[in-house]
Amino acid sequence: MSVPPSAEPALSPDSQLPPEVPGIAAVLVTQRAVHLVVAVAGDWEAARAATVAEAEQRCEAAQDFADSEAFRARYPGRVGVVRLQTQHPPPEIVLQVLTERGVEIEVTSEPPQGDKTCALCQRAHLTEQLVAMTDEGWACPSCFRAWLLLQEDRKKPRGEKLLARLSSRLIYPLLGVVVALFVLGVLYELRRLNQAHHIIRQHLPTE
Ligand SMILES: [Zn+2]
Repeated sequence: MSVPPSAEPALSPDSQLPPEVPGIAAVLVTQRAVHLVVAVAGDWEAARAATVAEAEQRCEAAQDFADSEAFRARYPGRVGVVRLQTQHPPPEIVLQVLTERGVEIEVTSEPPQGDKTCALCQRAHLTEQLVAMTDEGWACPSCFRAWLLLQEDRKKPRGEKLLARLSSRLIYPLLGVVVALFVLGVLYELRRLNQAHHIIRQHLPTE
């Protein structure tokens, strides 16, 4: 299987590829993301089933690696995103399924001819349809996905911490209030029973 040489200078040489995932053809490390590039020859016509299976399997393996401890140990503080390079455009359904899983699909025989450059990984010639705006400038699809994942990640711990702090601060006063209400309720009920008892005794025949 031949992978066409990529024009991106930031792609790592083979010696830097993670040995954990043999299907990864290249790795692009940016400040906060790692693009895990997998490739299939992409004969979607003659060998459709085999190519679909190969593409799925490689993307899954790369995503599993991105979610693993091994990834976090190798690229601390970065988020892993999967890019699939294929020589020919895949069928629409494959495109849809993989895109939904967050995989960026690049057709190497039809490179984009735009004038946008990704501010995060320096990929050039991107079209307006491909890029998205971030607080750091235009981002390619993979960098944008990583950026989104990092934004979500940043929001989560802060929210959880706040909730934990609030609940630890509120839990004792709340418990106190609950206990006090319970005690008051019991006292009230006892008083009522006592009164009822008196009334009944008053109405009881004395003889
Ligand atoms: Zn990028």
